[in-house]
Order: sequence, then structure tokens, then C-alpha cells
Amino acid sequence: MTALVALAPAKVNLCLFVGPVRADGRHELVTVFDTLDLADDVRLEPAADSHDEVVCPGVEGPNLARAALHAWRARSGWDGAPARLTITKRIPVAGGMAGGSADAAAALRLAAAAAGIDDPALLEEIAGGLGADVPAQVRGGRVLATGAGEILRPLPGPGEPYGVLVVPVEARLSAGAVYAEADRLGTVRDAEGLAAARGAVEEEVGIPAPGLLASGLVANDLEVPARVLCPAIDGALERVRAAGADHALVAGSGPTVLGLFLGADGPRRARAAAPSVPGALAAAPLPAGAGAPRPAPA
Ligand code: ATP
Repeated sequence: MTALVALAPAKVNLCLFVGPVRADGRHELVTVFDTLDLADDVRLEPAADSHDEVVCPGVEGPNLARAALHAWRARSGWDGAPARLTITKRIPVAGGMAGGSADAAAALRLAAAAAGIDDPALLEEIAGGLGADVPAQVRGGRVLATGAGEILRPLPGPGEPYGVLVVPVEARLSAGAVYAEADRLGTVRDAEGLAAARGAVEEEVGIPAPGLLASGLVANDLEVPARVLCPAIDGALERVRAAGADHALVAGSGPTVLGLFLGADGPRRARAAAPSVPGALAAAPLPAGAGAPRPAPA
């Protein structure tokens, strides 16, 4: 096995509309997300020991990338030599940007490349068993997700240009707790409301009018429950607005806060704003396929 590396890009939900709970206990969703150049680095190489290992400083407990490697071996029949995955985290942990899912998807891409198996359908199927956010991260790029997030429609990319200011908030929120708080507060949409949101989104994401960001549809239904559970989010939203962002919003289920800077000079404006917001990082969207494995530099 030669050493391989891959980017594991973070996900940004440009809109996230939450509807009723389905029979399986999961909420219906309508969301459009992009992958970002804010990405973890994942490296696959032969293990020093006789078993697979995952090294991921900053993340305690079971690692989703290990589960991905395990699932890949079980489902593909790959019996390659024991492997070591080394993950360098840049995506805020438990921040609502699907970092664990990104690492798991990168681990699947790397393992498939090491095995010499090119079977995107198998990868997506394995990804679906690992978590709701993993399948879209296998391919990356802009995606419309519906159902409970498992029905994926890749959208033409790149969409409209923009830059992002990513502001980590010193707290960890579990997605489950934020959805439960949304139910408690009664902020989820009914079926009719969710269908209306879906219709509006679909009008904006077709070819040749990828006008989602300018349409007023940038919104996150999980923002209110996340702010209730984590009041520190409010200050971060204010700092992002003060830095000149066109939209300030919570990332996914939070608590990370995002500023979107629209237009071709958005990435430049986001980079210029970053030093004025403590802890902020500037990022920009990445097209599908940007996380493809490549040989590790010598
Ligand atoms: P979710 O919305 O699924 O809660 P998130 O984007 O908010 O995800 P993640 O960074 O994916 O947050 O982390 C969620 C949890 O998953 C963390 O508490 C962490 O312990 C665990 N985890 C497992 N593997 C990883 C990984 N490779 N990177 C980050 N967290 C991981």
C-alpha cells in the first residue's frame, strides 16, 4: 500500500428547513449545502501494528473514520494490510459542520483507492450506514438534500460565488439535543410549510439560475433552538454582522457561527474580515471531487 492523502471538506448548510417528525423518528428536512476549503487532512498508510488504527488528535472516543474503514473492509471484502489513518482536524469538532462525517467519507475514498475499487454506488451505500451526513460528503460539492437528509440531488456547480467567515463557539452541541429543543419550542414547520420551502428552494437551484444566496432563502430553522441551548452564539452572530457579512447564521445544529459574503469578491472580503473576529477562519466553496485521494507527498 502506498501512502495516500485526501481532503475532508467541511459542510455548510446554506439553508436548512426542518419539518415534521417521520414514523422513523427523524425530522423531514429541506437543505442545500456546499463543501468548503475548510477541511481536515486525512492520510492512509500501512499501520506499524497488526491492526487498523486511527490517530486523530483532539477527538476523544470512537472515531467515525475507524467505523468507515471497518465497514469498507466488511462490505467490499478488501483484505489489504492493516492501515493507519491520521486525521489532522481543522473543522470545529461538534460544531455543526459535519467534520466527523467528512473524515468518514474521506476514509472511504482513501480505502477504495488503496483497494483499487472504483464503485461509487457501493461507497454511497456504505456511507449511508455510517450517518446521515456521510453520503453527500463522499462526492462533495453542492447538494439538495430532502427526506430526512438521505435523498440527495447533486446540483450544478459552482453555484454563485461567495466567501465564508467561520467562527467557532466554545461549546459542543449535539444535533439530537438541538432537534429536541426545536420540538419543545414548537419551531418546526408543518408538512405544508416544509413543502412551500422546498418549492421555493427548487426554483432557485435549477440551471441556469443558481440564485439561492441572493434569494432571501438563506436561513436555518435550527438557529433559534441552538441559541436557546447556547446563548454564546448571539455574541458571535453580532460580531459576524459587525464584520460586514451579508448573512450571519448558525452552522447546521451549531454552535459554530458563519458569515456569508456574497459575490465574486466574497472570498476576499471574508479573508479581510477574519482578523477582526476572534478565532475566525475564512473559507470558500469547493467543487465536487476536490477531496479525491492522491499520493502522499514524499
Ligand atoms: P453532528 O451534527 O453529527 O453532531 P457535528 O458536525 O456537529 O456533527 P462532528 O465534528 O462531526 O460534529 O462531531 C460530532 C461528534 O462525533 C463529536 O462529539 C466527536 O466525539 C465524534 N467524532 C467521531 N469521529 C470524529 C471525527 N473524525 N471528527 C470529529 N468528531 C468525531
